[in-house]
Order: sequence, then structure tokens, then C-alpha cells
Amino acid sequence: MTASTYPVWGWGTTAADEPTTADLTALAPLVADMLGVEVDGPRTIQPLPELPSDRVSDVLPRALASLASADPLDRARHGVGRSFRDVIRTIDGRVDYVPDVVLRPTGDAEVAAVLEWCSHHHVAVVPYGGGTSVVGGVEPDVGDGWAGVVSLDLEAISGLVEVDPLSRAVRVRAGTTGPAFEAALRDHDLTARFYPQSFERSTVGGWLATRAAGHFATGPTHIDDLVESIRAITPTGPWESRRLPGSGAGPSPDRMLLGSEGSLGVITEAWLRVQPRPTNRWSATFAAADLAAGLAAVRGLVQTGVTPAACRLIDAGEASVTGTLATGEAALVLGVESWSGPVDGDAAVLAEVCADHGLRLVEGGATRDAGGASETWRSSFLRAPYLREQLVLLGMVVETFETATTWDRVTSLIDDVTAATTDALQRICGGGTVTCRLTHVYSDGAAPYFTVIAPGRRGGELAQWDEIKAAASEALLAAGGTITHHHAVGRDHRPWYDAQRPDRFAAALTGAKAAIDPAGVLNPGILVQTAHRD
Ligand SMILES: Cc1cc2nc3c(=O)[nH]c(=O)nc-3n(C[C@H](O)[C@H](O)[C@H](O)COP(=O)(O)OP(=O)(O)OC[C@H]3O[C@@H](n4cnc5c(N)ncnc54)[C@H](O)[C@@H]3O)c2cc1C
Repeated sequence: MTASTYPVWGWGTTAADEPTTADLTALAPLVADMLGVEVDGPRTIQPLPELPSDRVSDVLPRALASLASADPLDRARHGVGRSFRDVIRTIDGRVDYVPDVVLRPTGDAEVAAVLEWCSHHHVAVVPYGGGTSVVGGVEPDVGDGWAGVVSLDLEAISGLVEVDPLSRAVRVRAGTTGPAFEAALRDHDLTARFYPQSFERSTVGGWLATRAAGHFATGPTHIDDLVESIRAITPTGPWESRRLPGSGAGPSPDRMLLGSEGSLGVITEAWLRVQPRPTNRWSATFAAADLAAGLAAVRGLVQTGVTPAACRLIDAGEASVTGTLATGEAALVLGVESWSGPVDGDAAVLAEVCADHGLRLVEGGATRDAGGASETWRSSFLRAPYLREQLVLLGMVVETFETATTWDRVTSLIDDVTAATTDALQRICGGGTVTCRLTHVYSDGAAPYFTVIAPGRRGGELAQWDEIKAAASEALLAAGGTITHHHAVGRDHRPWYDAQRPDRFAAALTGAKAAIDPAGVLNPGILVQTAHRD
């Protein structure tokens, strides 16, 4: 393969997004200076290998053949997500698992036909939204014994289908990306107010399948909070819940599909709650002497009952690297927004609690119309994936991981996980940085999010990261956290997910899957073990 491999590992969607040697050469000294590590020149991007032969195209029935692509770049792109493991391997010319073909159905009937054919022919099916999984969720590592594996790309099942202004909810197809969804809602003066950092590329179906979380820190910020009903196609038929504002009728069918990561059904559409676009905003940045002081203030804030849109507590290291605050103190970025009236009351409460906890106002604090600085902050947040791929090209091991725990354990968890990860970086990379911020806060706890940047050893980065990740994951569970707060389980988190969940729940999930996916074709290896042909 001689074409650029950027579509396989890159974040951007056009050739112009691919980092150039000039970009990287300019960035290298800045990175070296900021991180205090040696940075080598840009690494050479290796061509992709010859892919294994396609076992499926020749045997597909004509009706499905028209949906199929066996183009090598397309197959390779659908063989990976966007974790550090994915990016480093494909930059190095490695694609460990690749689907035989990519199928792009255009509606429910075609999804059902694919599932039926695959179930009868022992072909595994990996649902694919935007391919932004950072946990190996779309990698077709489905185990042995399959006659083939297809990547089922939902991109042709997209768009806003229906708006119910009375109930303020919309019906949207699963393959709709974040920008397409918001653009369609804007025509109705509505917003889903759901902005994960992967917004630009991820899809509604992917958000539902992974229980994604947006960048707002409190209130309805998880996709779960927006769901009215979900429609999925399973190998044994459709699964569609009633549109209801709430229901006490037994366990929730939607809750079961949320986070099912393509293992129970292919989500094709959902009704989601939306809201008018915000008109009033307030934001401010405060300085805290250290993270502990910031944590006490944040707990105080959320326990007042006020639900700030932004509540990012960033440790001193990350505050300085990101340019949020360069004083050696921790930064607390707060924001309130509303579409229904002034935000001054909430803002005053937040400012008062910060003052009570000894935090210092650094900037902002004035009420204003929507737009301005918080939009700027959001756009730099959404640019971060582009910076990450440049750091990888400069030889850095760079990745994030996240968790959540109750307030009684937040401080000790952050301390223990930072210590274990720093120790691992020292042993494995000879140095590097671990920083922490809170992405989401609750009245009973918080979600710490860690960023690791360390100098990699050429050719050894994957093994280095795997060892660091294992050390961090062990520390997370030992400290009472969850293996993931919003990145999902995928293939990479399975060992720790299995250790964390109740055994009887695992048995119930296995039974549920067997009932609706008796051939076990849907994303084998995800969430539960399924029997497959030897
Ligand atoms: C730079 C970066 C930033 C990120 N930031 C965030 C963040 O802020 N918040 C967050 O929650 N996550 C984040 N993620 C993780 C990822 O973007 C989310 O998990 C996202 O929800 C995945 O959506 P997707 O459409 O890309 O799904 P994919 O990556 O394509 O798929 C993810 C999983 O869902 C399954 N799946 C996808 N579509 C369907 C469907 N229609 N039906 C059934 N199963 C399906 C797949 O089989 C797979 O198991 C980030 C990832 C990256 C790379």
C-alpha cells in the first residue's frame, strides 16, 4: 500500500489534517521544554502490510455484496479505533486484526439481513460508528473459529428523522456524527448539549453503545440522561422500547442496551431529549493552593445543589502544560449556563463557596451572553486529538485513562494512582508526567481523569504502554475506583471489568446475549465470553 495511511490512524478527515514534518519539527523543542524530556525528530510512518485475504466477499449474497467494501485502506481503518495502542501500531505499519469486508447498510432491513446471513455462516459482526473507541471496541479481535468477520459501519444510517417540539425530543439515526446532529438541531433552535471530546467523529449510536459522557461536568451530561427510547436490530429481531419520560415497569430495556458495546444488538436509532440553546453564561477561573484544597471546594460546590456546566479541577502540572494557570497552583474552571433566565444567582453561590474554601479568582466572573471564552475553550478541547497524534509522531507515549469514586476515596485514589503510574513511568520510560483533572463531579463523588506523557523507546512503545496501563488499572481498582467512567470496556478493559462486576450479573448478561444472539456473532469477546465454532 503506497497511499498515505493517515485515514487509518489520524483524527482528521482530510489530507490537509495530516501533520507535516515542518509542524512536527516546530513542535519538538516546545514539547522537550514543557515536559523536560528528550524529543527525537519525527518518526517515519511505515506503510501498511499486505492484509490477510478476504474470506467473505466471494460468498456474500448479491443483496449484501452491494453494501460491501474490501478496499485495503477501508479494511485497515476499520481494524482499529483511536487509542494510543491503535495509533502507534498503525503508524508503525501494524494492523493486527482486520475485517474481511466493511458493510454499510442503509436501513434496518439491511442490518437484519446482514445479521441473519452472518448468524447462518458463522461470520462475526463488529458494529462500527465513528471508530473512536479507545478501548479496542471496534478492533475485530474476535477469537478463532469464525468463517470471517465483517465491520458493520453505520454511516449510511444517519440523520435527524423527526422532531417532537411538544415533548422536546428528537428521533435520530445511529450513524449521525456529533457535528451533523448539532447542525440539524440548530435548524430547530435546539441542542442535545452533548459534547464528548470525540464529538467531531463519534456517532449517536457509538455514544449509546458506550454510555459516553459529554464535557459538561454535572447535570444531564451522560448520554443515558438524554435517552427516551432506543431501537436496535438483533439477530433474532428488532428491539424497540416505548417513548416514555420515565417508567417503573421492570428493569429498563434502554439501560440494557446502553453500554452494550455492540454485543447485544445494532442500535439504529433513538429518541433523545433536547433543549433550547443556552443564552446566558458565566464562567470564571479560580486558583487553589493545591489539588486537595480544590477537591474540598468542588465537593462543597456540588453539595450546594448548584449544577455548574463546567467544573474542571486541574492539577498544577496540567494547568501549567495546558496554559490554564502558570502559577504552580491547581486551577478550577467553573461555568454556568442557562436558556431560561439569568445565571447570576448560581454564579454567586459558586463564587462564595470558592471564597469560603480559600480559592482565589484569577479571571472571568462576569455574566455574559452565550459565546466568547467558553466557546474558545471548547474548541481547544476538541482540537486536543490533533495534538495527541503529533506527540505520538514525536515518539511520546501519550494516553489518558479515567475512573470515578465516592468522595471518601477521591483523594486517596488520586494519590495512589498517581504514585503507581509515576513509578511505572520511571521504571518503564525513565521519566514522564502524570497529571490529573476532574472531568465530572457528583454530590457523592467525582471522576478523576489522568493524562500520561512519557518518552517512548522506538519500537517498544506498545509494550511500554501496556505495562503502564496494567499498573494504573490495578491501582485504580485497588483504590476503589471503576475501570472506566466513560471510555467503556472494549477488549482492553476486560480483565479489570470482569474483576469489578458481580459474577451473577455476568451470568445474567451471558444468558441475555445467548437469548437474542444465539450464534454469538455480535462483537465476540465484548463484555461476555461467547461460545464460537472451533
Ligand atoms: C480523542 C478522543 C476523545 C474522546 N473523548 C471522549 C469523551 O469526552 N467522552 C466519552 O464518553 N468518550 C470519549 N472518547 C471515547 C469514544 O469517542 C466514545 O466511546 C464514543 O462514544 C464512541 O463513539 P463511536 O461512534 O466512535 O463508536 P465506535 O468507536 O465506532 O464504537 C464503540 C463501541 O460501540 C459499538 N457501536 C458503535 N456503534 C454502534 C451501534 N450503532 N450499535 C451497536 N453498537 C455500536 C462498537 O462495536 C464498539 O464496541 C474519546 C475518544 C477519543 C479518541
